[in-house]
Amino acid sequence: MRYCNQCRKITPGEPLFCNFCGRSYDFKLCPHRHPNPRNAEVCNQCGSRDLSTPHPRVPAWLSPLLALLSAVPGVLLLLVTILFAIGLLNALLTNQQILFQFMLVGLMLAFIWYLYLHLPHVIRRTLSRLFRRSKKNDHDH
Ligand SMILES: [Zn+2]
Ligand SMILES: [Zn+2]
Repeated sequence: MRYCNQCRKITPGEPLFCNFCGRSYDFKLCPHRHPNPRNAEVCNQCGSRDLSTPHPRVPAWLSPLLALLSAVPGVLLLLVTILFAIGLLNALLTNQQILFQFMLVGLMLAFIWYLYLHLPHVIRRTLSRLFRRSKKNDHDH
């Protein structure tokens, strides 16, 4: 049996197409059921342009989850920064001896922020390029 990422239903046996939404699984199939890769426009066996639409590579519910996961480091960093600011205020008011340590932590935080703001930009761009390509494949048929 196979699980369809498009309609989230299971088709029993060794199906080529989903029983419920009619999408093929890992291949694009022509009317003669020749398997073709996801990026194919034309069947490589018979030249047919009538290829099936494969189901998405990742389950539909997973993509918002992935987006959320990529936002988590930023949220954590923000929390740490807020906690740091509160601690710094406390130190300013009560214990001025540990101010130097706070300065060091502050510098480290600034450095992590710098990494966070610059590195994910590259990663995000690569990811969005990958995503756009796979999305395009899913709509071609
Ligand atoms: Zn389906
Ligand atoms: Zn074919």
